[in-house]
Amino acid sequence: MSKKKKEKKNKEKDCYLNCSKVEIQRLNILKLKKRVKKNEEIIDKLKTLIEVNSIIASSLDRKKTLKSILDQTKYLMKCSKSSILLIDPETNKLKFEVLTNEEDKAILSDIRLSMGEGIAGTVWENGQSILIKDATKDVRFSKKADEKTKDTTRSLIAVPLVVNGEIIGVMEAMNKLDGTSFTNFDLEIFKTLAMQAAIGIENANLYEQAVTDGLTRLFLHRYFDKMIEVEYNKAKSFNKPLSLIIFDIDHFKKINDTYGHQAGDMILKKVASVIKENCKDNYIPCRYGGEEFTVILPETEIEEALSFGWLINKEIQKLEIPYEENIIKLTISGGISNLEKNKAKDFISLIKMADTALYYSKESGRNRISVFEKEFSIKE
Ligand code: GH3
Ligand code: MG
Ligand code: MG
Repeated sequence: MSKKKKEKKNKEKDCYLNCSKVEIQRLNILKLKKRVKKNEEIIDKLKTLIEVNSIIASSLDRKKTLKSILDQTKYLMKCSKSSILLIDPETNKLKFEVLTNEEDKAILSDIRLSMGEGIAGTVWENGQSILIKDATKDVRFSKKADEKTKDTTRSLIAVPLVVNGEIIGVMEAMNKLDGTSFTNFDLEIFKTLAMQAAIGIENANLYEQAVTDGLTRLFLHRYFDKMIEVEYNKAKSFNKPLSLIIFDIDHFKKINDTYGHQAGDMILKKVASVIKENCKDNYIPCRYGGEEFTVILPETEIEEALSFGWLINKEIQKLEIPYEENIIKLTISGGISNLEKNKAKDFISLIKMADTALYYSKESGRNRISVFEKEFSIKE
């Protein structure tokens, strides 16, 4: 028994000797209550862990899954914030992927941590969890994020996220709400949560691979076929707007012929990333065919769909893509259909209408976005 524990026991003994029977009973009840409270807390934590498990089993959306896990983390760990950093394959650096505080996401978007940099970078380098009582006194701690969010990190836990034996990121929790430090028990709970987050990421990755195109990372045609029907039925049932855009790169064959297929592939990747970056969270961007892209825009009126179409058109026109000694420039055309405006009787008509509007854009000179009008004769 440690010296501290011995002293505590002796104190309790003295207290018992000096107390009346009633007081002893009162003290025992207090002790019991304390124990019950602690047990309740543990049960509560276990319940939340089970809840996290069901979140992972029920969703394949990576961001949604991770956000729910972090929300549970915040509740379980009674901490002010928690976050997940993933290794960005392009820069091979850690990047904030999901945070409990939505506002922090934009503030921290340009922060990158190299291997070994900061606590997260150290966890990545060594593959070991870290628990710190006061980060301000730890030389490994990087102040990059705190300087931006104006927070002061004191107590901190960081654990690696491991998928198939490989570290893919780091999960962190900072500052207990009551000002105390995280405990070893907290660390064990946090490790379990990180294991579940890693399973969630793995599931989402596998699903993503199955439904996205390898070159552009946009959804595949068959996913589009499924989702356009789902979104059409949803819009009809709930009387919500729905728009659809089909884009097609202008004179793409000429780009292939002039610069080669490899340059063509690079352009397809670039165009896809411009489309993806400008999509709202609920938009569904797909690779429809070779150099054709569709975007399903749920809950989107025609005006918004049209400005999205023109935004993509302008962004593509602005691109100056270096390739060998050349700078490649290109344009894109688009066709839009809208459920309400065009009174599409089914999802197939909605697709045909967008396709006809695209054909109209091509016929009237390319590098433009057109909306389907009833005067157009549908292209079969
Ligand atoms: P338009 O302005 O009328 O759309 O003309 P276009 O040349 O873009 O259209 P066309 O349909 O004649 O040619 C499309 C070309 O896209 C032909 C095909 O070789 C090329 N293509 C299709 N898929 C890929 C791909 O994955 N990679 C590359 N590099 N080229 C592709
Ligand atoms: Mg085409
Ligand atoms: Mg084309």
